[in-house]
Amino acid sequence: MILIHPPVAKPCEPPAGIAKLCGALDHHGMMHRVLDANLEGLLSLLNAFPVPSDTWTSRAIRHLSKHLALLSCRTAYQDEGRYRRAVKDLNRILEMTARSSRVHLGLANYEHEELSPTRSTDLLRAAENPENNPFYPYFEKRLLELLENRQPSLIGFSLNYLSQALSTFAMIGFLRREYPWVKLVLGGGLVTSWMRRPHWKNPFDGLVDHFIAGPGEGPLLSLMGVMKSGDTHYRPNYDSLPTRDYIAPGPILPYSASSGCYWNRCSFCPERAEGNPYIPVTVGAVIGDLLHLTNKQKPVLIHLLDNAISPSLMEAMTKHPPGPPWYGFARVTRHLADLDFCFALRRSGCVMLKLGLESGDQAVLDSLQKGIDLEETSLVLRNLKRAGIATYVYLLFGTPPEGLIDARRTLEFVVKHHDHIGFLNLAIFNMPAYGREVEHIKTKPFYEGDLSLYTSFDHPKGWSRSLIRQFLDKEFKRHPAVAAILRRDPPVFTSNHAPFFVVDKGTER
Ligand code: SF4
Repeated sequence: MILIHPPVAKPCEPPAGIAKLCGALDHHGMMHRVLDANLEGLLSLLNAFPVPSDTWTSRAIRHLSKHLALLSCRTAYQDEGRYRRAVKDLNRILEMTARSSRVHLGLANYEHEELSPTRSTDLLRAAENPENNPFYPYFEKRLLELLENRQPSLIGFSLNYLSQALSTFAMIGFLRREYPWVKLVLGGGLVTSWMRRPHWKNPFDGLVDHFIAGPGEGPLLSLMGVMKSGDTHYRPNYDSLPTRDYIAPGPILPYSASSGCYWNRCSFCPERAEGNPYIPVTVGAVIGDLLHLTNKQKPVLIHLLDNAISPSLMEAMTKHPPGPPWYGFARVTRHLADLDFCFALRRSGCVMLKLGLESGDQAVLDSLQKGIDLEETSLVLRNLKRAGIATYVYLLFGTPPEGLIDARRTLEFVVKHHDHIGFLNLAIFNMPAYGREVEHIKTKPFYEGDLSLYTSFDHPKGWSRSLIRQFLDKEFKRHPAVAAILRRDPPVFTSNHAPFFVVDKGTER
């Protein structure tokens, strides 16, 4: 079979979901090939050179190979100016190359002027007219080449982000037309979210043969005729992926130590709304996998993909450091309020923790059932800074319990702790279309498309999206302390590249 990672997703690390499938297929001796059509497709478009119509594009094209070489080298991450220019120039080339296809394309972005990835009719249109996709010249040639001698019985697509959806369907449409007998399978995070909606009905009948929700190893193996027993854990296998070719200063090893979330209590959390169960890999197996994969892949960074790394795993990592620096999402817990524990984490290689704080107002946090205490958060931020672990703090504006006054408290909290916050991510709340809490909120009829995972709603405090945007642009982002933090954020790659900017910074001990 062939497993495909379709464009567009940030091309800085190999796709972890596909590596897990490879691990399972290998374990059972099933032949397979992998195509990272995202990385290859983006590189092929970068090298397709649009006709430059302005100075910026000509300059970007002239410096293309220099930029790519620079981003693969550590020195770029010590010079923010050169890094920013390189990333923005690459984005510019993609934008100009795809303009004739009416697509706003970037290294992490694919937006069609007319077609929406949340409308099944638009995805079907993308499948009917694959030639209109800007990646068509690349994938037509590549897929024909790949299928020329050995035709697979199955081709699987891993669809995780909206920015991949239209190109995934363009590739599916092409394959359906050229190889009508090959079975096509669609899985991945976005597909799981579609299928976990109540009353899911497949709108792609006749185009896709099988849909898979949740971890794909078991269903894929059974499609290949292998019956697996119980919840077998398969070690991911990155051998078929071009781990050294991604846009990063060396191989990054992404690894999931769990699916779902061990906390699983926050209201309006999509994970909870979808009913995804918490399934951790045993701590012993995680440590074994990380040591094995690190030895083999020689990564310069480990990216833990869990929704929240469990305290028990953190503790195990302090005892069995994997070697390279690592980062991931963690909850603000009492463990991080212990300075010695933070120093031990740093010694284990932890260079950055992403913290989903959401709000700087205690009543809002309590109402959202975040289980976060702001006093403890102050201590955690201070400890992590002292230990030399950078923080990437995620804030969410416009949740149902939050109004303008509460949002101003978040601003106060950030200003007060600006010295201890490395990076900030600001987002506006989207109301999940389904879930227990939504039943108590006045939602409006559907606003985007039949596959949209979110719905519009009347904010109980009248804190509408336009007012939130105004607050963020005119007040929050303009505060000098906040502006200074936001300026540090690596463009496009954000938290994926942020660790490279902090990895060499020391501790206070
Ligand atoms: S910690 Fe994150 S993933 Fe877990 S329940 Fe809360 S919002 Fe959801």
